Amino acid sequence: MIPLVHPIFGREEKKILNEVVDSRILASGEYVDKFEKAFAGYCGSKYGIAASNGTTALHAALLACGIKKGDMVLTTPFSFIATANSVLYCGAKPVFADIDPETYNISAAAAEAILKKDRSIRALLIVHLYGMPADMSAIMRLSKKYKVPVIEDCAQAHGAKFKGRTVGSFGAAAAFSFYATKNMTTGEGGIVLTNSAAIDALARQVVNHGRSGHSTHTLLGYNYRLTNLAAAIGLVQLGKLDGWSVARRRNAAFLNKHLGGLGFLSVPVLPEDREPVFHQYTVRVKAGLRDRFMKHLAAKGIGCGIYYPAAIYRQPLYLDLGYRKGICPEAEKAAAEVVSLPVHPSLKQEDLRKIVEAVQAFGEEL
Ligand SMILES: *Cc1c(COP(=O)(O)O)cnc(C)c1O
Repeated sequence: MIPLVHPIFGREEKKILNEVVDSRILASGEYVDKFEKAFAGYCGSKYGIAASNGTTALHAALLACGIKKGDMVLTTPFSFIATANSVLYCGAKPVFADIDPETYNISAAAAEAILKKDRSIRALLIVHLYGMPADMSAIMRLSKKYKVPVIEDCAQAHGAKFKGRTVGSFGAAAAFSFYATKNMTTGEGGIVLTNSAAIDALARQVVNHGRSGHSTHTLLGYNYRLTNLAAAIGLVQLGKLDGWSVARRRNAAFLNKHLGGLGFLSVPVLPEDREPVFHQYTVRVKAGLRDRFMKHLAAKGIGCGIYYPAAIYRQPLYLDLGYRKGICPEAEKAAAEVVSLPVHPSLKQEDLRKIVEAVQAFGEEL
């Protein structure tokens, strides 16, 4: 079986873990500080605030940007549910704008149509889905024009670039995840990035019980801290990230080259102004074909998966909150048609050939 995801964990990670264990400093410690600085520096951001996972990082980023009860936050319905849930945690309400059917990211035109009518939007929560940067020129233009801050959900886009600039450095704040299946991992883990000293100070309080002085607590915070163990792993993984991203792009280019001409499926687009990191390699097949296609791949020993099978507002939780079917037709269509194929850095040339052959064979059977 060629797995869809394959976390890479080497000798260097084991070695540094042993060092941390021997030091007996397991919770907050020097590696947390080192990792925050290294990751922020890598992304071209001034400040990094480590968090326990990507979801808590998103929550802390939103709170630090001033999102509060009753606020409206514009976001995409085509993402992992944590994106929209982080808005709910603040007591705020997600407003969903439809996606661009080629990049699967929020459509700036759809976002503007909402911003024009609804002056109560307090933030734009932008996801770089599958490791493909959103159109940050258009998004930042909207941010200026409507005076709404941007918060980036970079959980799938470590090191991805838009016009040469690394994602996570565009908005007022950004959140990353280091979950086991992401492009780099600490098991569970996350980080908030910002260029603002004020947002840094607030986010730091949010993740540590609202602490300001030694034992002074000035706001309701949480225990969203990252451990020294996780941060040490993160430091090692960060050093390997660029090599992995190159491998992911190389694998995606091979798949695009050999699957691009098939009539029954469409491959990912590669906009010239972006450098994606292919967290997922996602193709589209007609809705009626998807089940058969996935069964065929499974029978050939190829792992595949659906990210995501439903627009977030079609989840029972959100239907109960009053969202209606049909508000973002492109997101619903994508949810019915997408399939992700293996693209991770551990794939061998032989694996890639096997994937191509299996997909081509399905086309010939049609
Ligand atoms: C993984 C992910 C998250 C949440 O991160 P966790 O570390 O799992 O909490 C948020 N948004 C997106 C787009 C993700 O892929």
